Amino acid sequence: MALESLNPATGELLQTFDEWSDAQIDTTLAAVHADYLAWRITSFAERKALMLRAAAVLRQQRDLYARLMAEEMGKPVVEGRAEIEKCALVCEYYAENAEKMLAPEPIASDAGTSYVAFRPQGIVLAVMPWNFPFWQVFRFAAPALMAGNAGVLKHASNVPRCALAIEQVFVEAGFPANLFRSLMIGSAKVNRVIESPLVVATTLTGSDIAGRKVAEKSGAMLKKSVMELGGSDPFIVLEDADLDEAAAVGVKARCINSGQSCIAAKRFIVVEAVYEAFLERFRRNMAALQVGDPLDERTQVGPQAREDLMHELHAQVQASVAAGARIELGGEPLGQGAFYPPTILAGVCKGMPAYSEEFFGPVAIFIRVKDAAEALLVANDTEFGLGGSVWTRDRSRGEVLAGQIRAGAVFVNGMVKSDPRLPFGGVGISGFGRELSHYGIKEFVNIQTVWIK
Ligand code: NDP
Repeated sequence: MALESLNPATGELLQTFDEWSDAQIDTTLAAVHADYLAWRITSFAERKALMLRAAAVLRQQRDLYARLMAEEMGKPVVEGRAEIEKCALVCEYYAENAEKMLAPEPIASDAGTSYVAFRPQGIVLAVMPWNFPFWQVFRFAAPALMAGNAGVLKHASNVPRCALAIEQVFVEAGFPANLFRSLMIGSAKVNRVIESPLVVATTLTGSDIAGRKVAEKSGAMLKKSVMELGGSDPFIVLEDADLDEAAAVGVKARCINSGQSCIAAKRFIVVEAVYEAFLERFRRNMAALQVGDPLDERTQVGPQAREDLMHELHAQVQASVAAGARIELGGEPLGQGAFYPPTILAGVCKGMPAYSEEFFGPVAIFIRVKDAAEALLVANDTEFGLGGSVWTRDRSRGEVLAGQIRAGAVFVNGMVKSDPRLPFGGVGISGFGRELSHYGIKEFVNIQTVWIK
């Protein structure tokens, strides 16, 4: 099977890559492990210098990488540049903070000296998605390498050029040539990598379906895994919300990355007192979005990353309409290429696909509720638990409600976003474990007790 780089805006086949043989996988893992053995005993100062260089390489080649993403998975170039800047920031954040985060922790006990140390463990396998092809990888790689681990990346099959470019960032920064490698393989070969005795842990970002497979295999091999899966984040609008701001931020939160984000606002749960007023503002902002060529600086919504994903999204929309939902805007593919328009599905109720499934594209789901109490019930009536946001001018009311939402992150009067300083991850079928912050860097270390008489 070959890996294909295909432009979703035009359907043009850009490049194909032969999938690696088992022997190539094994040889590469051995080379990565050899570099790991030397890397694990390097000082934080050495690692920091290289990670800062990785940030510089990213910035120098920002436009090139943004173009690469636009061509390979349709991300508007303006968003692509912001993604690369964020990757540089996460490299800098861990370059500056890893040593502090992993400093030994003295603990008094019956020993003469006892403390907790954080030791590197080896090669971590990252199975990553196409939606933020650089960011998802760097938010794993920066802490992993700073902690003294090595990484192998199995990127999504539709972004092989991004995978190779990322590998090259580390090479250009001066890291050991094999410390971070991209494996050119499809998902069928992932089990073989997990089985390798040289691989100590796995991390996956993607659908819950893929997550279950990789978590199951990791569990069977007794290897730790971190799962960052999908979400159907609630965006609760209460009667005392600033409707203009909520509608502006809500549209951005729904349509960022052409709607293909795990932490996108997906279910707009609006109390009836302001339902029509909010919907009207939201519709106006959605309709004003510029859909088009991702290479065009003015484009705000590009194509979906793959045509099959666009068709899947449309099938979800149609099934919801058949079950009684109403299209307020959009709702039909735009013709050539994988373009799907900003869409609003209103009148969504329990029992419709839009109520319970993740919609991974620019489709806003509107659910009308009586009051805050019902909003909370609906918000939590999901198997997902990634993020959520609450809109109210009463900050303490928002804070109380935030505490009752079952999700890994809740934002009051703001859009759910990731930030290197704050932990990121979900509960329920949105996954387990955390990325970013000091929690993220500690996921793949050996928390070692040292006791000296
Ligand atoms: P997948 O979850 O299938 O892909 C994510 C990664 O997992 C890819 O590298 C993929 O490889 C790999 N993978 C898939 N199946 C397996 C498996 N059985 N064993 C090992 N690895 C596997 O996402 P899709 O591209 O199919 O998108 C489908 C849906 O997933 C979206 O509509 C969205 O709901 C969700 N999704 C969520 C993301 C998030 O950020 N949480 C990101 C992307 C998708 P390969 O590409 O070779 O199949």
